[in-house]
Amino acid sequence: MTEVFKGSFTQQEPIPEDGIAAALDVMRSGRLHRYNLAPGELGEVALLEREFAAYTGARYALAVASGGYAMATALRAIGVRPGDKVLTNAFTLAPVPGAIASVNAVPVFVGVTEDLTIDLDDLEAKADQSSVLMLSHMRGHLADMDRLLQICKAADITVIEDCAHTMGAAWKGRASGRDGLIGCYSMQTYKHINSGEGGLLVTDDDEVMARAIMLSGSYMLYGRNGTPPPDEVFERVKYETPNVSGRMDNLRAAILRPQLARLDAQCAAWNERYRVVEDGLRGTPGLQIVERTPEERFVGSSIQFLLLDWSDAATDEVLDRCLKRGVELKWFGGATPTGFTSRYDSWRYAPSERMPATDRILKGIIDMRLPLTFSLDDCAQIARIIRAEVNTVWQQKAAH
Ligand SMILES: *Cc1c(COP(=O)(O)O)cnc(C)c1O
Repeated sequence: MTEVFKGSFTQQEPIPEDGIAAALDVMRSGRLHRYNLAPGELGEVALLEREFAAYTGARYALAVASGGYAMATALRAIGVRPGDKVLTNAFTLAPVPGAIASVNAVPVFVGVTEDLTIDLDDLEAKADQSSVLMLSHMRGHLADMDRLLQICKAADITVIEDCAHTMGAAWKGRASGRDGLIGCYSMQTYKHINSGEGGLLVTDDDEVMARAIMLSGSYMLYGRNGTPPPDEVFERVKYETPNVSGRMDNLRAAILRPQLARLDAQCAAWNERYRVVEDGLRGTPGLQIVERTPEERFVGSSIQFLLLDWSDAATDEVLDRCLKRGVELKWFGGATPTGFTSRYDSWRYAPSERMPATDRILKGIIDMRLPLTFSLDDCAQIARIIRAEVNTVWQQKAAH
C-alpha cells in the first residue's frame, strides 16, 4: 500500500472573521486611503503601526505596500546611492537583490552555511567591500546574531534585516528585526500574517523613520501616522526626501490587525507541525536535517533539508516520486529556476564570483511549505512519504 497525501501546499487559512468584519466596516466607510480619516479617527493603518511597534518593542513602525518596498525604502532612508555596494545573502529570494537593484546599488553576495544561515567567515572576509548589509533571514534561519553584530560593528556596517520569514521569531529573546538599524517584514500571502501584499518597517532611529514615512508617500500628513517621530525631525528632512508612493491602505490593515493579535499562537502551531515533520525525517540515510539552535526562537512556516552531494538526476527523481504521492517539494538549487528563484547566479544583473562551498549547499537544499491548514497527522504522513522515497532513491544509488 502506498499512501498519497491529498492536501494543498498552497492553501492558507481563511482570514479570521473579526478581520473580515473590520474589512467590511472599512469598505462601508469608503475611507480606504490611510490619510482619509473621520474627525478624531486614528485609522486602521495607524493602529496597525502602533500594535506592530508594541509587538516588536520598536519605537517606530511604518506599514507599506510590500516587503520588497520596505527593503528598498530602508536602503533609501539610510542614503544608499547608485553604484554603492550592498552585502547580502547568496541564498535568499529575488525581492532582496531586487530591492538593492531598485536603488541602482550593487549586491555583493555572501555565502551560505549548512545551517542555511549567512556564512559569517565569508561576511568577515567581504566586510571591507561595503558599509551596508541587507541580511536576509531566509526561510527563518537565524545566524549567530551576536557574532554577526560584532563583525558589522567592527567594520562600521549598517545592518538592515529582511524578516519576511522571521516575523514572530527571536534570537536570544531579541525580536527578529531589532538587531539591525531597520527591520523589514512582508505580509504577502505565504508569510506569517496575510493581506495578499503588504510590508512593515521598524526602527528606533528618528531620522530613518521620518525619511521612511516621507518616502512612503505621506505628503505633509505624517502627523496622522501611527508612530511618527517628533515634528522637528520632519522639519529637517521633509523638503529633501522624495515621495516614492508605497502606502498601506486601511482595508489591508483591517485584515492584518486581528492576525497580529494571534501571531504567537500561530507560530506555536507552525512549530508543532515543523517538529512532527523533522522527527519523521530524522535518521533518513542520505538526508541531512538542518538543526535549529536553542538561541533561536524560529517560526517553522516551512521546512528545509539537504540532499548534499546528490546527483541532479537522483534529486529530480526524489522530487518526482514525492510529487506523484502528493508531496510538493521545491528544489531551491535546481539548475533552471522554476516559479521563484533563490540562488545568486539566477540574478544575472548582479554578476558574482563563483562560491564553490555555497554552490554545493545550494544544490542540496530541498524546501517544503507547511501551511497551517495541515493537521499534525498530515505532517506525519508527509514525512513518511518523503522518507520512503528518499530511501528508495538512495538504495538505487547504492546499488549502482
Ligand atoms: C517574500 C519575501 C520578501 C518580500 O516579498 P514581498 O513579496 O515584496 O512582500 C523578502 N524576502 C524574502 C526572503 C521573502 O521570502
